[in-house]
Amino acid sequence: MSSTNVTAHLREALESQRASFAKAPNPPWHKRKEKLQKLGAMIEANEEEFQKIISEDFSHRSFVETSIAEIMIIKAGINHALKHTPRWMRPKKVSTALQFKPASNRIIPQPLGVIGIISPWNYPLQLAIMPLIGVLGAGNRAMVKPSEFTPKFSELLKQKLGEIFSEEEVYVATGGVDVAQAFSDLPFDHLVFTGSTAVGYHVASAAAKHLTPVTLELGGKSPTIIDESANMAQAVARIANGKLLNAGQTCVAPDYVLMAKDKIGTFVDDLIKQAEVFYPSFAGNPDYTAIIADKHYKRLQGLIEDAEAKGATIRVAGDDDSQQMAKERRIPLTVVTDTTPDMKIMQEEIFGPLLPIVPSESLDEAIDYVQKQPRPLALYWFGEDKAKRDRILNETISGGVSINETAWHVVQEDLPFGGVGPSGMGSYHGEHGFKTFSHMKGVFQQSKFSGGKMLYPPYTDKTKSMLNMMKKIL
Ligand code: NAD
Repeated sequence: MSSTNVTAHLREALESQRASFAKAPNPPWHKRKEKLQKLGAMIEANEEEFQKIISEDFSHRSFVETSIAEIMIIKAGINHALKHTPRWMRPKKVSTALQFKPASNRIIPQPLGVIGIISPWNYPLQLAIMPLIGVLGAGNRAMVKPSEFTPKFSELLKQKLGEIFSEEEVYVATGGVDVAQAFSDLPFDHLVFTGSTAVGYHVASAAAKHLTPVTLELGGKSPTIIDESANMAQAVARIANGKLLNAGQTCVAPDYVLMAKDKIGTFVDDLIKQAEVFYPSFAGNPDYTAIIADKHYKRLQGLIEDAEAKGATIRVAGDDDSQQMAKERRIPLTVVTDTTPDMKIMQEEIFGPLLPIVPSESLDEAIDYVQKQPRPLALYWFGEDKAKRDRILNETISGGVSINETAWHVVQEDLPFGGVGPSGMGSYHGEHGFKTFSHMKGVFQQSKFSGGKMLYPPYTDKTKSMLNMMKKIL
């Protein structure tokens, strides 16, 4: 399809969603519930097919990881929405200041209309469906553009969503970057983009042309700080798990570690051992996920080579045959020490199983380091000293935080999920998603009896004394 045709086709889809929305602009709960239930049943019925197809796109994706990090998260998200959306939908009475009584105020959540969802390849199902849960729960229509890096999955998603929704309810646009660009150019009522910070700039400026509000779920370098008060065995296992899930291709994976220099040697030995316990071999291991594409495999190898050339020490877990690993596009846990700021691995989001370690001798030094970096999507702190924990929470800014854990804040339905500054803007999940995809309309209702007429012109001495009285009660 030519680019003019792509744009025309997408605009047509948007217009027909808009027309259909206009006929039912505020669907009652039973209609929304039906959609969420259909969505949940479709995901559950097709779990194996999704596992298989995502694995084919990755060349290998652990089936268990697809269940844990995609299917289960979606199931929890749908169940949470089914349980709580009726309450979130209710108009909320809010207080009215004394001088306006007996009038009343309320906030009415209202569907926005047609919401665009652009999703990435790393958790292709979860990151398309989690926003969709909020969008449908809030009573909207959705147009979805999944990633071109998972083409088979994207076609399957289109087919499966097409079996349960009409194109006026949920439309899926598949295709390459040209389609993604035309998609982000559409005048949606809201656009939620999950992907890299670099593409986030393009999406935000395309949306700005129509003043389309955006939620940007971006990436960045998420620091992990290990305090001397930490339980080291626990920290090692939890960091290894957070780093190696999906072979590190997770937006909230620990990107680098800050810790005292004299502890680094033991930590690295233990981390390597832990990775080898999790994955007795990396090559051919069904539990270990491959790197999505040659482009990213080469990028990650380039980060290791660049660091080594600039004086870093590289430790690799396991003793797999490197040719076999390259053939399978797998990279084992690779720990990088003796890092310097000029290394690319210390500048770019890693998004793979490489973990650089940065010596940091005090809490002040760790806070100073984090404060000087772009604001990250996540921050992890390991330790038992509550005063230090509170300083980290108060003095660093990140999208979210897990304490003595990695990544788990993301799967708490009651916590907002989103970045800050270059790691994103806005948030969703649970009620935060419902509010993001609703217009929270403020309504003032005047009563039969209102003191307002006392302020009508012409302004007289009576008005002035009324004003003086009001000044006293405001
Ligand atoms: P990406 O930015 O390359 O692509 C994401 C989506 O944007 C894809 O669907 C793609 O088709 C589309 N796209 C590409 N170019 C575009 C353009 N010029 N205009 C509009 N759309 C365009 O990201 P990716 O490689 O798929 O995913 C990895 C990145 O996503 C990492 O930076 C990671 O941290 C981030 N991420 C963030 C979250 C989060 O929730 N914050 C979750 C997962 C991944």
